[in-house]
Amino acid sequence: VAKAEGRACFRFYNEEMNARAVEQLKMEEELRYGMQHGQLELRYQPQIDVATGKAVSLEALVRWKHPLRGMISPAEFIPVAESTGQIIELGEWVMSEVGRHCIYWDSLGLPLFRVCVNISPLQFNQTGLSNFMRGFIESSKIAPNRLELELTEGAIMTDAESNIVKLLELKSLGLDLAVDDFGTGYSSLSYLKRFPIDTLKIDQSFVADLGSPDGAAIIDAIVALSKSLNLRVIAEGIETQEQMRYLVDKKCDLLQGYYLCTPVYPEEVPALLVKDYTEQLASGC
Ligand code: C2E
Ligand code: MG
Ligand code: MG
Ligand code: MG
Repeated sequence: VAKAEGRACFRFYNEEMNARAVEQLKMEEELRYGMQHGQLELRYQPQIDVATGKAVSLEALVRWKHPLRGMISPAEFIPVAESTGQIIELGEWVMSEVGRHCIYWDSLGLPLFRVCVNISPLQFNQTGLSNFMRGFIESSKIAPNRLELELTEGAIMTDAESNIVKLLELKSLGLDLAVDDFGTGYSSLSYLKRFPIDTLKIDQSFVADLGSPDGAAIIDAIVALSKSLNLRVIAEGIETQEQMRYLVDKKCDLLQGYYLCTPVYPEEVPALLVKDYTEQLASGC
């Protein structure tokens, strides 16, 4: 009986795996088509400097406008693109869009700001990334210190010793580097000190957890760590006034979240850059 059951289980498991593989294959094909037919779009979410009340940076976030399924979140298709290798092409498209948008914003004579671009583990691990970035900087004429690459903690801490070289290469191009989703992986503090990084981005799960003593303790620890390593610290996923208040009080440098502003179209960016958030930051005092 056990043997028969085992076999049944195995078959069931296989069918489920099969269905998932078919689903993934379908998404892979649709994504390839979508990339070639202009179905991807970028939105930008501002990061507010607590000291000045201004939006000083914008995170580029990709969206897939699927003709039948509507807007698909990157949380759904980035993992597929990552496993099929399509993320390389997608990442290059993101950079070219960022370049195009920067030229448009600069033509309006806006105050200077940084654009933050997400780089997933496979993009970081490919050998061509720094060459691509060098080419991008040369052809786009965008000052490299206006760009910040958001790398995940997992990507840079896996094989940390050899990643130092890679990070130094990117840094030598003049780019800023941030560690995204910080606190969810296993950072070695000694590497954190040796890596040429500029920013720690506290994972939004800790912000969501601020109501609990543990959540607050982790935020306090990351802010303190950033200050002692002389890094910029940013909190993302801020959805309430209470969360904002806590992070302002703790002297977190930058804040990002729906409570302050949702991701917007490139055309809406100019208005955000001249907006003064001082009053909003002080509210709830
Ligand atoms: P991430 O880099 O950690 O980006 C933050 C995510 O939190 C974004 O989700 C953003 O829209 C969302 N968010 C912002 N404020 C709030 C808030 O107050 N509450 C909550 N609950 N969420 C908030 P999004 O745009 O769906 O992106 C999800 C993930 O997909 C990103 O996480 C990033 O890892 C990846 N991703 C997005 N765009 C790109 C891209 O161009 N390239 C690569 N490689 N990955 C990308
Ligand atoms: Mg990010
Ligand atoms: Mg993040
Ligand atoms: Mg994330």
